[in-house]
Amino acid sequence: MARVNRSRKDQLENTLLHVQCRFDGTPLSCVGDLLVHVISEVQRSHEAGGSSADNAARISTYAIKVLELLPKSFGKRFAFDAQLIRVLADEYSQGGAKLSGMLVPKPSQSWGHQTVSMPSTDGTTTYAVDLIHLPGEDNVEDITLLDYPFICHELGHHILFKDGDGFIALFSKELESVLSGLQRRTLGIRGFARQIAEATTNQIRQYWAPTPDQFNWAHEIAVDVIAIWLSGPAYLAAIQDVMEDDNLNPFQLGKSHPTYETRGRALIEASECLGWAYYTGPFRTLLSRWEATPPSGDRTNLHVACADPQLINAAVSAAIKTCQALSLPSCTAARVAAVENALREGLEIELGTDLLIAAWLQYCQSSEADYHAWEIAAIARILAEITE
Ligand SMILES: [Zn+2]
Repeated sequence: MARVNRSRKDQLENTLLHVQCRFDGTPLSCVGDLLVHVISEVQRSHEAGGSSADNAARISTYAIKVLELLPKSFGKRFAFDAQLIRVLADEYSQGGAKLSGMLVPKPSQSWGHQTVSMPSTDGTTTYAVDLIHLPGEDNVEDITLLDYPFICHELGHHILFKDGDGFIALFSKELESVLSGLQRRTLGIRGFARQIAEATTNQIRQYWAPTPDQFNWAHEIAVDVIAIWLSGPAYLAAIQDVMEDDNLNPFQLGKSHPTYETRGRALIEASECLGWAYYTGPFRTLLSRWEATPPSGDRTNLHVACADPQLINAAVSAAIKTCQALSLPSCTAARVAAVENALREGLEIELGTDLLIAAWLQYCQSSEADYHAWEIAAIARILAEITE
């Protein structure tokens, strides 16, 4: 065998061994099996002269990249997070939405959702793992149930990746109507003022256009709304914690997320539509504090233009229509009352939405120390059930 072929063969064999060691006996063994299958197939095809050396190298390199993206440790936190995500995904899949069976938690720097496509021999993707990034390490101590409603936000991204065409269509129509209104208004303007007006219109389109990659304001607002729909005041409390951080810049403009000022307005609007107006007080307080900030480099006319109430309203309403169309289970006052009752009677709270609601209720109703004792006991009990 030629030296170059020999080294290709070694490369594939090394990758194969690596995959086999990495996932054997872990919860991701089925992902490992799939990678092993693809690599073995390329290896066979390459040896038989069917697959080109380039193709074999491409798949081997890609398989290594996939390995790097997937979680590396499978401790108790992984077991807890994976089971919670599975139960939530089952709850959300009772109606029109069908969430993936391959949602995998990964300890990370921050919250996030990432689709990792598995390699395939013919270059077409047939299978994907959806990673849910959770802050912290694979330690049970890093499970913070009060922040976990952000899982609902990340699963909201997943739901829109699978079934978000309706949202894109609904919102795009509103966006076009807002933008053409703005364009009509710039017709009478001349010179430099016109350039600024046109630049502003373009910027609004850049931020708000509901691109399929979800790196835009419309989708971020939509998944906040979905998270409120799914977990109600538990999500509002979790995002309130983030927004009350003194180091947060509420006017930070960027394409991937709306400013917190815009997000705050959308949260209030969605809460009012979904029956949680009672919990909007802290957001109103934050917004009036932020509004009192004198305009500066951080807060410009562009901010005002981009936070167009019609666009916020359109994103919230299109997201609610999407939740209805997919029959996602909504968190209602009755559900919260039922969890409250169960806590009062000392009943065991099941893993899933009820646990997220219970953690929030427990925190509101007890001292910090009592809350932590409750959380540790609840996590330990659930882990014992999962791993028994
Ligand atoms: Zn997001």
